[in-house]
Amino acid sequence: MSEQERLPETEAEWRERLTDDEYHILREAGTEPRNTSDLLHVEADGTFRCAGCGQELFESDAKFESGTGWPSFLEPAAEAAVDTQPDDGLLGARTEVLCRNCGGHLGHVFDDGPQPTGLRYCINGLALDFDPGE
Ligand SMILES: [Zn+2]
Repeated sequence: MSEQERLPETEAEWRERLTDDEYHILREAGTEPRNTSDLLHVEADGTFRCAGCGQELFESDAKFESGTGWPSFLEPAAEAAVDTQPDDGLLGARTEVLCRNCGGHLGHVFDDGPQPTGLRYCINGLALDFDPGE
């Protein structure tokens, strides 16, 4: 999907672009069941892009095995790639991670990750497309 491509403007357009599962994660801030993502054990080099808009979000270098059941990253590919905002939901205060380009919900970031960042970006695999390559 080209990054130049126009973003959907209505929820109906998003429903056409995304699968039902992707729509639930990205547009309704859903969470996929743990250990269901086929991206969990990807070890190839490449780039994880937003499933909604194609923006580069995470590099394979930053991926680590967290044991949580969701793809986990030390840091985004670029500071400008993601937005964060407080999420004071039923599960307590967390920090939501969103794609800055399309506003899609990606997952949450926690401060219990390994060094050097100490961060754990806990991301739904359904919100990502893996692009093997450099
Ligand atoms: Zn996006």
